Amino acid sequence: MAFDIEMIKEVYARIPGRIAAARKVVGKPLTLTEKILYAHLTEGAASQAFKRGTSYVDFQPDRVAMQDATAQMALLQFMQAGRSQVAVPSTVHCDHLIQAEIGADQDLSKAKDKNKEVYDFLASVSNKYGIGFWKPGAGIIHQVVLENYAFPGGMMIGTDSHTPNAGGLGMIAIGVGGADACDVMAGLPWELKFPKLIGVKLTGKMSGWTSAKDVILKVAGILTVKGGTGAIVEYFGEGARSLSATGKGTICNMGAEIGATTSIFGYDEKSAAYLSGTGRSDIAALADGIAEHLTGDAEVYANPEQYFDQVIEINLSELEPHVNGPFTPDLAWPISKFAAAVRENGWPAKLDVGLIGSCTNSSYEDISRAASLAQQAVDKKLVAKSEYTITPGSEQVRFTVARDGFLDTFDKMGGVVLANACGPCIGQWARHGAEKQEKNSIITSFNRNFAKRADGNPNTHAFVASPEIVTALAIAGDLTFNPLTDTLTNSEGNQVRLDEPRGLELPTKGFAVEDAGYQAPAEDGSTVQVLVSPTSDRLQLLDSFAAWEGVDLKGMKLLIKAKGKCTTDHISMAGPWLKYRGHLDNISNNMLIGAVNAYNDATNSVKNQLTGGYGEVPATQRAYKAAGIGSIVVGDENYGEGSSREHAAMEPRFLGVRAILVKSFARIHETNLKKQGMLALTFANPADYDLIQENDVIDINGLTTFAPGKPLEVVFHHADGTSHTVVANHTYNEGQIEWFKAGSALNLIKAAKA
Ligand code: SF4
Repeated sequence: MAFDIEMIKEVYARIPGRIAAARKVVGKPLTLTEKILYAHLTEGAASQAFKRGTSYVDFQPDRVAMQDATAQMALLQFMQAGRSQVAVPSTVHCDHLIQAEIGADQDLSKAKDKNKEVYDFLASVSNKYGIGFWKPGAGIIHQVVLENYAFPGGMMIGTDSHTPNAGGLGMIAIGVGGADACDVMAGLPWELKFPKLIGVKLTGKMSGWTSAKDVILKVAGILTVKGGTGAIVEYFGEGARSLSATGKGTICNMGAEIGATTSIFGYDEKSAAYLSGTGRSDIAALADGIAEHLTGDAEVYANPEQYFDQVIEINLSELEPHVNGPFTPDLAWPISKFAAAVRENGWPAKLDVGLIGSCTNSSYEDISRAASLAQQAVDKKLVAKSEYTITPGSEQVRFTVARDGFLDTFDKMGGVVLANACGPCIGQWARHGAEKQEKNSIITSFNRNFAKRADGNPNTHAFVASPEIVTALAIAGDLTFNPLTDTLTNSEGNQVRLDEPRGLELPTKGFAVEDAGYQAPAEDGSTVQVLVSPTSDRLQLLDSFAAWEGVDLKGMKLLIKAKGKCTTDHISMAGPWLKYRGHLDNISNNMLIGAVNAYNDATNSVKNQLTGGYGEVPATQRAYKAAGIGSIVVGDENYGEGSSREHAAMEPRFLGVRAILVKSFARIHETNLKKQGMLALTFANPADYDLIQENDVIDINGLTTFAPGKPLEVVFHHADGTSHTVVANHTYNEGQIEWFKAGSALNLIKAAKA
């Protein structure tokens, strides 16, 4: 990790000067968020003030983290960039592909067998390019990052939506798609819309049953699942300083559920204690040296309304434990009102399973507080009525809580310890009987509770709460139990009450681990072979996309005119297709299968102009490709909204679609298309969408003089011999036009290196 400490020293050397310069440019006191963002602008951008919510800005992140499902395509693309090493410290974490079924050991060994080729690929490609590799069983990406890599004042991007977890240690940490990760690893800047700022002032101090999770459950109730969109949420105040670093991580983690770009806390004594407790007192000492820059200015926190776009205040002394759900994380219920809500809404009161852990809530503090309740259950002769599972977030936490006896305590209560992985949180849960689709209730300390997420059963009512509340309700087996006021009947027929949970923020004997599951990369990876079997159906090395042929595009077919909403899920579905995330040819068989064809209102049924019959979208496109004929896709408004997955741009490119012409784009998808060398065009007149006919043959003119701000011309030749010529706008700048000409941004990066 010497690489890391040197990198952190460089960042800290830069921060004071950058912040002083930003102060001059902005001309007013700065929030913590602004300080860190300004400290990470590229040289060219550093001297400008940016308009929140509208300006697109280039940043230089310090780190990249990738989980195993998304790392595959990110690294396959990186291999195309022609670099011998990653430009910034990067890590891969094998956590998403382990299915929970029986218990940690069996599940882990089954996953290693089933996903062997993916793990071998990720291990070898990491080894070759200087990337740290965390093996299956090492833990969940965000917990491992918090324990090892997050640092105050840093900026990280991660190929997972809960990357903001690292905000608990004062880092700007943002979830992105694999193409963005690839760019940053190749040394390119990373673009982000300068975010709006939401300030959350925490006053008072928590006690009793309330925990950090309840802060974010309350915030989710206030802001809803969309309220944080385009914003960074900054927490401050005496209440913030009273929270443990891991508790802060929980709050930042679940900020993804309000749509926030990320969330952040300032550096304080709790951050220093956590850094020291996890073997990083050198970083704490460095942070102490620039502590004034690792928090917002005093004027900002004294009058937050003047500096944030929105301010929320929460008094921790009055905050009740919350239970959120079902089916959405923003349906927030204080525990005192929850039982009535269960009865009024007819939700199943019998609780089938309580699940604690995940990247959101698996710190030593979380586990020790939950274990204090499990111990009470044993001592007070209570038999847990629900099934109960524990997912440790990392091997370091698992080993330490095992050493300190907590796992034995859970065992006595009938709990089952699952592998240090995502498991049920991402639907990797072989829950017996789920296929019967019976109405039932579960409660978890995870972050998301959308229908079907945990077990695939749409009738599972999933609720989210703190590990303490999950444990208490699992002991009761009843969602209407309020541990703050109610009693339970024990095995001797006596009424007993659960006392308030107790725990420790950090282990008194320190953290311990025998094998953390880390593989350091080779010093010199030049001779390392990347392992991809040519017969694999899950992995496929990428070939470079062909460069533009230098002439206008003529005689293309219309593949589909998509009607209405067409998100990246419609373009490249998830679910069973996740398996093929590392195999572009195979995953391309899902291309646009969810899009509605405007001519027949059907999905995955388009006219094949070569045969005159109707066929599936990928098969039809493959027929055009085999015949050497290009095609175009026409779409409606906000085409490509949703997840930033690059597959939605790579699949059409791979199968020979040349242009996407729509009424409007979701911006990230538009950029992804440009990066892959596609033409992303919009109708100058959206009504021209109606002129296109099912059997059209299409030309795109003006490419030989393709220039920023200069529209292109698209000609639709109809089957009856008539034609329409329409104007197509675009947003390509000079550099992006070069991407198009080179065939992809990666081709250009590679060429520049050569
Ligand atoms: S534990 Fe859940 S939320 Fe966390 S990284 Fe895994 S799937 Fe995502």
